Amino acid sequence: MRQTLHGQGASRGIALGRARVRLPHALQIAEQRIPPEAVDAELAQLHGAIASVRAEMHALRARLHGALAAEVGEFLDMHALLLDDPELLQGLDALVRERHFSADYALRLQRDRLAGVFEAMDDPYFRSRVEDIDQVIGRIHAALHRRDCELRGFAGEVLVAESVAPAEMAQLRDQGVVAIVTTGGSPLSHSAILARSLHLPLVVDATQALELINDGDALIVDGGSGRVVVEPDADDLRRHRAREREHARERRELARLRREPTRTRDGVDVRLFANAESREDVAEAYALGAAGIGLYRTEFLFLQRNTLPDEDEQFRAYRDVVMGMNDRPVTIRTLDVGADKVDRTGLALRDEPNPALGLRGVRLSLARRGLLHTQLRALLRASAYGRIRLLVPMVTCREEILEVRAEIANATQALRLDGHEIADDVPLGVMIEVPAAALALPAFVRDVDFIALGTNDLVQYLLATDRNHEGLGRLYTPLHPAVIRVLRDVIRIARRASRPVSVCGEMAAAPDYAPLLLALGLTDFSLHPGTMLEVRQRIRNCDFAALQARASALVRARDRRALEQWLATAHG
Ligand code: PEP
Ligand code: MG
Repeated sequence: MRQTLHGQGASRGIALGRARVRLPHALQIAEQRIPPEAVDAELAQLHGAIASVRAEMHALRARLHGALAAEVGEFLDMHALLLDDPELLQGLDALVRERHFSADYALRLQRDRLAGVFEAMDDPYFRSRVEDIDQVIGRIHAALHRRDCELRGFAGEVLVAESVAPAEMAQLRDQGVVAIVTTGGSPLSHSAILARSLHLPLVVDATQALELINDGDALIVDGGSGRVVVEPDADDLRRHRAREREHARERRELARLRREPTRTRDGVDVRLFANAESREDVAEAYALGAAGIGLYRTEFLFLQRNTLPDEDEQFRAYRDVVMGMNDRPVTIRTLDVGADKVDRTGLALRDEPNPALGLRGVRLSLARRGLLHTQLRALLRASAYGRIRLLVPMVTCREEILEVRAEIANATQALRLDGHEIADDVPLGVMIEVPAAALALPAFVRDVDFIALGTNDLVQYLLATDRNHEGLGRLYTPLHPAVIRVLRDVIRIARRASRPVSVCGEMAAAPDYAPLLLALGLTDFSLHPGTMLEVRQRIRNCDFAALQARASALVRARDRRALEQWLATAHG
């Protein structure tokens, strides 16, 4: 029977596919015993399944590269560790050998036992590891029931699940899965960010999906609007096919924009910088005509390892980015670990009562001067190879900027004494992502050379709404009068002080928000290369002066609905 359900669009694109429903806690297996003479064969099958999962994960790891390797690799490593965990393995063997349970039921018992241990922990980080246990045990369970070891048969399917881990995203895309619908999740989660860079349509927060969708149902998924049609009728299919043709035409048109300027209809030039984490991102950004790199997140060099990268390793990484962009400016942000970006080197504290308000970003750098000094030396050395700009995250007050400036001066002096070549001018910028910094900006705007608005965190802190909290999905939005006002003020203050200002949060990557940002006077955007052409296209259809004329209506909007209405009529 035809039905429609709605979630939040988290990764644009439309798809038609056959539903594969993955029920939560798929291991609802009733108690099963096996005869004593079947124990050896059962164990052999179980061990075969574990070995095949290990091989599968190894192969997946080897196929990853670039930003994906950095993000997904961390999860795969954790799963590989779990697979080798004697606690897990011996426990399974004992359940089969001594208590004569089937391998399936032993998996379920072990899952419940380990999940119980993690769920009882105080630390939210460890509690959230239950998801990883489910992933690993679920994979072994799937392998046990597969005729061969390769995961196959997903091509053309839409996965419907409670959640999908980042580690699974790339694999699902490779298997030919055409879209994903989840009952939980938020558009800001790591999985959603990955889905967008993989161009895999994703709808999150479709709360009724598991109740209304059956395995094998035909689905039309719209990752832009968040709409899912179950068992579409002839009209739906006709509309879908028309939209697909439209999409193909749009893609061809977008490809033509690679070499076109980002200029509004009334001739205002807008600069699109790229957010990049890997050599591949940098190459793509260059090819798409990015004005430069607006945000290079250096924490990706630190996240996937047990030891800190030394000065030379960092220097080579930064130099590669700078040389990869030829003479276009490259903005490299100093380390921003902490909060949700937890490393394994022990830098970020694990036991902070409130990590989002804790020792993260510049606070951590200033608390660990040796670390900051090494990073600054590496960055300054790389400045001899192109146009580097330094960006400082999570700044709250002027003192932090002055301290970083003093550290830069020290490092510069020491490097010059050692005979290193350093650029004469290395601009220093500040991320505005803490409300206090936004409010106090007039007090220190002249102490910095440029400004980058980190809307991901700014929205989180302004609205007191965790950017990664699944249950708060709809509360986390830039469409709030407070956010609009702060953006307007920061852009205005920066422009009056002749300081370049950009937005480098996910907001800048959403084509629908482009008119809003232009209306507030923004002409520098920084976004992942994945949506650069769509944003360029949107901007080329805008009239800057007409949008400016509607800016006061935007700032006067009293609630989300009014802001949505403004956007809906923002043809400017
Ligand atoms: C931001 O907060 O908007 C931002 C760009 O930084 P990150 O997402 O790395 O915290
Ligand atoms: Mg941030």
